[in-house]
Amino acid sequence: MSKKLNGTVIVTYRCNARCNMCNRFKAPSRPEDEISIETIKKLPEMYFTNITGGEPFIREDIKDIVRELRKKSDRIVISTNGFFTDKIIDLCKEFPDIGIRISIEGLEQTNNEIRGLPDGFNRGYTTLKKLREMGMKDVGFGMTVQDRNAPDLCELYKLSDELDMEFATASLHNSFYFVEAKNIIKDRPMVAQNFENLVNMLLKSNSPKKWFRAYFNHGLINYIYGQKRLLPCDMSFDTFFIDPYGDVMPCNGTKDKEVMGNLNDQTWDELWNSEQAERVRKVVRCCDRDCWMIGSVSPAMHKYIWVPAWWVIRHKIKALFMKKPYSMYELKVVRDYRDGKVSKEELDKCSTCDFNAVANNGLKDCGGCGCDK
Ligand code: SF4
Repeated sequence: MSKKLNGTVIVTYRCNARCNMCNRFKAPSRPEDEISIETIKKLPEMYFTNITGGEPFIREDIKDIVRELRKKSDRIVISTNGFFTDKIIDLCKEFPDIGIRISIEGLEQTNNEIRGLPDGFNRGYTTLKKLREMGMKDVGFGMTVQDRNAPDLCELYKLSDELDMEFATASLHNSFYFVEAKNIIKDRPMVAQNFENLVNMLLKSNSPKKWFRAYFNHGLINYIYGQKRLLPCDMSFDTFFIDPYGDVMPCNGTKDKEVMGNLNDQTWDELWNSEQAERVRKVVRCCDRDCWMIGSVSPAMHKYIWVPAWWVIRHKIKALFMKKPYSMYELKVVRDYRDGKVSKEELDKCSTCDFNAVANNGLKDCGGCGCDK
């Protein structure tokens, strides 16, 4: 029996939000081009599937998609902005064992400014509460931290904690997927300070899952300072993304779209074992983008479990004696920046931000030239 994989299915590039850190809404897919149920049936067995977009609940046939994926995946989590409350509730009535992550970018005003969705916070929050009332267990917030919302980070965590919900974090990335090349954290120490506070709160909790989340957030500080990933990236080996056109890719973090094959035209085995897939794996092995998103970090944390586990043990021991068991200055680069040994400009150069780059949009028609087609 072949090994189960970790897959992310991007069911659409259409989106009703207007987030300031993602231009995907400017480059939507056409509904008639989007991945069909027939193609979804060709996907392999998975131990975990993330369904994402765009906004996945824009798809009229989202229920049919989940029904098919449910047959081949042990666990499904859908990432959504939570705006289409009725559709989400309706889906969860049929599939109460799936997970729902609602992106909320801060407290009410901050969220609505960042997302460009009128009343977005209340819609998302109402959806989350309704899901909880229905008895859905696997629900939570997802927040992409940037300069503008970093001060809300711990408040939002407290809110999720009060509701007994998961709290997933990310930071700004640049890639074809976000149709963006200019995202960058401007005030690194301020953002890192907020992450440090969150790490300490997570470490103080009684939940082992949260202790490992603390490690993930420690990795985010490392990432925003433009450093090498704390763990190797093995995307495309036992993990894949598939886009609305059936193109299978290693991840969503590359500058241009890297295609291993197309599932509309090939069988899974042909695609996965092809020369093209091997070529992409070689690209991944040399990839220097050092992104730190849960999609690529979670499999790495499982695979190299002793690295985060040792970090957790050390900090839990410290937590027995200290009010603040974690300091961002554990990272050499954070100390060096504080001590003036490295400049902001040098750190900016280590990031993937490129103000001169034309962002590739990964769309079908224009070959990803970055035009607005
Ligand atoms: S570091 Fe990994 S996840 Fe990030 S772009 Fe490179 S291959 Fe993709």
